[in-house]
Amino acid sequence: MKDCLFCKIIRREIPAKIVDENESCLAFKDIDPKAPVHILIIPKEHLGSTLDFSDENISLLAEMGLMSNSISRELGLNAGGYRWVINTGKDGGQAVDHLHLHLLGGRKMTWPPG
Ligand code: 5GP
Ligand code: ZN
Repeated sequence: MKDCLFCKIIRREIPAKIVDENESCLAFKDIDPKAPVHILIIPKEHLGSTLDFSDENISLLAEMGLMSNSISRELGLNAGGYRWVINTGKDGGQAVDHLHLHLLGGRKMTWPPG
């Protein structure tokens, strides 16, 4: 996707603090962190949101989860826990139209979310 912000990060056309990468996913620090740890995990294939999951690409969700687990283990978050967030669409609060998993941690989260 030519004009997609996160596709540009994947292609290194826009700088980002990349923390992990493999064949299918990329993880980088959120530019405006909402917690001491705030990392975005994205599939390298452009999916607009969770609405784009299909039988053919649903394995990417597992890949994103496994990358997040590796990062949270590495950063010592697992003992205390953390939060995963995926916003979808207007009502879900999605601002960037390339599917991303937020990994938030390093402080106690509140519930319910806003
Ligand atoms: P959403 O609201 O779509 O779930 O989350 C989008 C996230 O992307 C926000 O937390 C926002 O701070 C982050 N973000 C927006 N633009 C950039 C950028 O250029 N670089 C990085 N690293 N994060 C971004
Ligand atoms: Zn994209």
